Amino acid sequence: MSRFANQVAVVTGAGRGIGQAIALALAAEGAKVAVVSRSEASCGKAAEEINASYPGSAKAYGVDVADHEAVQALAKIITEELGSVSILINNAGVTRDTLLMRMKEEDWDTVLDTNLKGAFNTVKAFMRTLMKADNARIINIASVIGLIGNAGQTNYSASKAGLIGFTKSVARELAGRQVTCNAIAPGFITTDMTDELPDSVKEAVINKIPLASFGETADIASAVTFLASKEAHYITGQVLAVDGGMTM
Ligand code: NAP
Repeated sequence: MSRFANQVAVVTGAGRGIGQAIALALAAEGAKVAVVSRSEASCGKAAEEINASYPGSAKAYGVDVADHEAVQALAKIITEELGSVSILINNAGVTRDTLLMRMKEEDWDTVLDTNLKGAFNTVKAFMRTLMKADNARIINIASVIGLIGNAGQTNYSASKAGLIGFTKSVARELAGRQVTCNAIAPGFITTDMTDELPDSVKEAVINKIPLASFGETADIASAVTFLASKEAHYITGQVLAVDGGMTM
C-alpha cells in the first residue's frame, strides 16, 4: 500500500520507541519522513534503520522541540530538503516522575516544555505549510495519564491533558482549511520509557488492563497511519485511546 506516496511527514521523538515505529509505518506506505529527535545519534540511527527497509525514505534531524527558534529553523530546512510537509506527528515526550511534594521546578518545566510547548512550537512552525496542503494532518501523541491522572506524574498528566485541549482548539482553528488535528492516548506500551518501571508496578498495571498486556509500538503506529490517511478526513478533534481497554 502507498497511501502516503508524494507526502512528507515529520515525526518528533522518532529516535526510538513509539516515534520510530510511527516513522517506519509512514515510510512503509510511501511517505518521506523527517525523523526528529533530541540527539543526532539517536535520530541518525533510526533513520538509517528505516532507510535499510525503505531506501531514501528517511532523513534525520537532531533538534530539541522545546526550543522555539530551533524548531522554526527546522521547518525551513525540512521544507527545503524534503518538500512541503502535510503530516505532522507530535510524539516527543519525556517523564520526570516523582510525587508533587518532592517535585522540583525543573522537573515541571522540562516535562511541560517538551510535551506541550514542543507541540505548540512545531504546529506554529509548520502551520502555513499544512494549511496549503491537501488533507493535511496533525496527530498529537498524548497519554491515558492525561485523561485519568496518576500519582507521581502531576507534571506529565498536566502536559498530556494540555496537549488534548490544544488538539481540540487547533482542530477548530484549522478545520476551515481541511486540516484535521487528533490525539492518540496510548496506554502502557513497551518502550524505554516503560522499561524503567519496576516489575511490581508493571504487574499492577497489567491487572488493570482488560486485554491483559502492554501494547506494542506498532499498535500506536497503526492508529497513526489510519488517522493520517485520506479515509480519516471526517475525524477531527478526537482522542483515540489505544490502551487495551484500560480507560473504557
Ligand atoms: P522514549 O522511548 O523515551 O522515546 C522518546 C523520544 O522522544 C526519543 O527519541 C527522544 O529523543 C525524543 N525526545 C525527548 N525529548 C525531546 C526533545 N526535547 N526534543 C526532541 N525529541 C525529544 O518514549 P516512548 O515511550 O516511545 O514515548 C513516545 C511518546 O508516547 C511520548 O510522548 C510519551 O509521552 C507517549 N506515551 C508513551 C507511552 C508508553 O507506554 N511508552 C504511553 C503513553 C504515552 P532522544 O532519542 O534523542 O533521546
